[in-house]
Amino acid sequence: MNASGGRVWAEISLDRLINNYRIVRKSAGSARIMAAIKADAYGHGAIEVAYTLQNEGIYMFGVAGIEEGIELRQAGIKSKILILSPILYDQIDAVLDHDIIPTISELRFFKALDEKLEKRGGPCSVHIEVDTGMTRTGFPFDEADRALGVIASSPRIKIDGIFSHFPMADVNGAFTKKQIAAFNDLINRLGAAGIDTGAIHLANSSGIFKWPGSHYNLVRPGIALYGLRSSPDVTYEGDFKPVMALKSRVVNVRTVETSTPISYGHTFQTARRSTIATVSIGYGDGYPRLLSNKGEVLIRSRRVPIVGTVCMDLIMVDVTDVPNVQIGDIVTIFGQDGDCEITAEECAAKASTIVYEITSGIGPRVARLFKVDGEIVKIRTLLHRWGNGE
Ligand SMILES: *Cc1c(COP(=O)(O)O)cnc(C)c1O
Repeated sequence: MNASGGRVWAEISLDRLINNYRIVRKSAGSARIMAAIKADAYGHGAIEVAYTLQNEGIYMFGVAGIEEGIELRQAGIKSKILILSPILYDQIDAVLDHDIIPTISELRFFKALDEKLEKRGGPCSVHIEVDTGMTRTGFPFDEADRALGVIASSPRIKIDGIFSHFPMADVNGAFTKKQIAAFNDLINRLGAAGIDTGAIHLANSSGIFKWPGSHYNLVRPGIALYGLRSSPDVTYEGDFKPVMALKSRVVNVRTVETSTPISYGHTFQTARRSTIATVSIGYGDGYPRLLSNKGEVLIRSRRVPIVGTVCMDLIMVDVTDVPNVQIGDIVTIFGQDGDCEITAEECAAKASTIVYEITSGIGPRVARLFKVDGEIVKIRTLLHRWGNGE
């Protein structure tokens, strides 16, 4: 029971990531793949995830901001990198310096970029976002044709792709159908106008599996690569496996009498003489405080309930029915232990949130340990294997 990363750690199975990627690749047909690895690859470790997928021959990565793109470039990632969200004007030099592709969402940004290129020398590849119903970013749909015409007329800017985004690919069929039809029409009009858009992309994970008509020539999976579903209502075809398991250890065990109150606010009182184990994970690690008196964890391959309020660094669990729990025992917060499993999706449902928030919320205090061929490897070994090490 010694393989551990300290008080709390996440085990990231790069084997499972590869398994999931290969399923997505099959479902994507002839479309190429851009992996969404923003927010440190949804908490899984962007550099390690990017290297693994780059070795699998992935085409492109999607990130949220310039800092995330630079982190990947500095780590030696060579694939195309797109910033999916708008960047600010004072970040234009940084995208040009690091060969990162910005998204154009409005014409003032286009003009700022074009002027910069006039001074610095071009060209610069861009993707153009069109809003087909998310109402977040992207050119409003009725302005898209004109905007594309303006951007295409710059000799310094190369349109490398055009995209839009689904707000409800997993839940609302009628709306999504209309979105796809509108986007199709736009693509056809641009084609008729002689504008080369390069990559055309619309599908997130739910789109890939529910809307094969939205694949075009590039798809943008995120959550499916991590072996999770966007919501409990969707099914993704194939044997997806969760990439992340979250683990901690027992740091205290004590037996208390009936009616003993536990943790901040005394929101729980024992109903019997109880054995209580204290486990070193808390909301300071990204474990939701909403799981107070609700969540469960695995100890010695048994499910045990959280009792009392989740603290910043610790939780208490009732282990009265589990024989022989010891200080130092490994606790599975989510993941598998023997025949038992708790999923991150289950934690999300109990905390009234989505699984994206669970994994991307796992904080920097939680060590990431990477598993390759079933073994936990040192990151230096990995970098060496990837050809980037000392
Ligand atoms: C995050 C993101 C995705 C990936 O979505 P999943 O639901 O995780 O597959 C796709 N497209 C855009 C624009 C995104 O921001």
